[in-house]
Amino acid sequence: MLNITDLKQILGELENIAMNHIIEGIELDDDVITIHTDDIDPVEIDLFPGHEPQTTDNVCPICGCEESTGDGVEIDGVWAKQECTCGACEAVFVNWHRLERQELVSYKGESL
Ligand SMILES: [Zn+2]
Repeated sequence: MLNITDLKQILGELENIAMNHIIEGIELDDDVITIHTDDIDPVEIDLFPGHEPQTTDNVCPICGCEESTGDGVEIDGVWAKQECTCGACEAVFVNWHRLERQELVSYKGESL
């Protein structure tokens, strides 16, 4: 959910860009707004920065240990969520995974 503070910040960034550049297009892709201008690289504004999927290896955010144990995976739309416990410092964290690719392997019993 976006609150009014988030919206004001996004509008502020847009205003900033609009004052200095000519905006040629605005794209919304999931949670990211991309602003295309006539003269600078596209500017991306993340609408929900707190919900970034973890893109690094599966390491503990506190101690960096790689030995964590995970509970069951919960699927929610394109998101999968797994609660993990660090084997070293016992920090509990949630890893968010996102559906990136879908591959059709068989149709009506015929392998493809
Ligand atoms: Zn740890």
